Amino acid sequence: MSQNPPSLRPDLAPKIATPDTRRGNQPTIGMVSLGCPKALVDSERILTRLRAEGYAISPDYAGADAVIVNTCGFLDSAKAESLDAIGEALNENGKVIVTGCLGAEPDYIREHHPRILAVTGPHQYEQVLDAVHAAVPPSPDPFIDLLPASGVSLTPRHYSYLKISEGCNHKCKFCIIPDMRGKLQSRPAHAVLREAEKLVENGVRELLVISQDTSAYGVDIKHAEDRGHRAHITDLARDLGSLGGDTKPWVRLHYVYPYPHVRQLIPLMADGLILPYLDIPFQHASTDVLRRMARPAAAAKTLDEITAWRAICPDITLRSTFIVGYPGETEAEFQVLLDWMDEAQLDRVGCFQYENVAGARSNALPDHVPAEVKQERWDRFMEKAQVISEAKLAAKVGSVMDVIIDDIDEDGIATCRTKSDAPEIDGNLFIDEGTEGLKVGEIVSVEVDEAGEYDLWGKVI
Ligand code: SF4
Repeated sequence: MSQNPPSLRPDLAPKIATPDTRRGNQPTIGMVSLGCPKALVDSERILTRLRAEGYAISPDYAGADAVIVNTCGFLDSAKAESLDAIGEALNENGKVIVTGCLGAEPDYIREHHPRILAVTGPHQYEQVLDAVHAAVPPSPDPFIDLLPASGVSLTPRHYSYLKISEGCNHKCKFCIIPDMRGKLQSRPAHAVLREAEKLVENGVRELLVISQDTSAYGVDIKHAEDRGHRAHITDLARDLGSLGGDTKPWVRLHYVYPYPHVRQLIPLMADGLILPYLDIPFQHASTDVLRRMARPAAAAKTLDEITAWRAICPDITLRSTFIVGYPGETEAEFQVLLDWMDEAQLDRVGCFQYENVAGARSNALPDHVPAEVKQERWDRFMEKAQVISEAKLAAKVGSVMDVIIDDIDEDGIATCRTKSDAPEIDGNLFIDEGTEGLKVGEIVSVEVDEAGEYDLWGKVI
């Protein structure tokens, strides 16, 4: 029997010894994991997803708004242990969601513990997330969460987030993540790979690598090699891209900063090992604004880097996020950003208007930009981004590409994504007819026959 480490087991862990770094009213979940290694994968996956959605994970009952008990029902002794764990969680916390193998016998559980909030069966981690959302609603914060608010409904089984590190060593002035989550803490590469392997064995076709600073992966552990795997993003990407044999998963990298070594990742994309997709938060293009933000790689010549990446992998899709109206941003600095966009021709962009966040150092900067100016700059920025996106999508009409099917509705319309589309943040490709026999999670070839501002339409070939 395998259990979560003590820090994730409210039944074992001592009271929180570290200062409570939760932001006010941050929803918080506890987890007791009693199952076999397969169940542990589900537990890890649930926790990864919840963390990415902005939930905190409590190491004790008292600090949790609700507790998930991942049970084992293989032997009578395991059943008894699971029932005890549910009883203890009910006594100590009161709000309990049960999942795992014993969840296949909901009547048996409810007979002993009628007060539980929800029961789901083994490997039904999507339903667990729904039960958590119902019991403890998420409280999205776009400045902190790794996933957008729209993504908090259900994660389809065929893709999964894979968290490779927690925390960040930088001190961007608008960001409080290092204060809340601490310094960079990378997971050993072999542990990340083991989780990824299990996910692929369980039917995952797309791995979404997330962290606060993906390019910095392994810096804190000096890129240590353990069990033949080196903790460096280039090595990890190569290892992840080599998983799966015939069912090789798509591997998509998020939150990659434009450090020079990012160039080493691009040949892996050109060779088809990982998706030719880079989610790279530039935030601005004016060197002065970037310096005032205290951004890593503020002086990087990003346009030169982009040119170099495209020379190696012409199909690369670049997604980025930007902040307009940062304190002190002048019209000239904003124009630098617009001109940069003309040159960079990014495929996908998101844009925030700057806002003060409690505790951020940027709050104290002089010359905050008036709300109407921020809005006006945001409108101009988004108008430009939309024109670029539309032109890029129009150029895809007539081409043939692989898409992954996320959903097929009752009218037979399939919602898919191309390699250029990350779930929940980018666009979609829709197939309106001829979808009989297709399955969610399948990767199929389509010919693109229509393009809109953000989405494509196509037919299966
Ligand atoms: S790199 Fe900057 S914005 Fe990103 S998490 Fe670290 S401090 Fe925050």
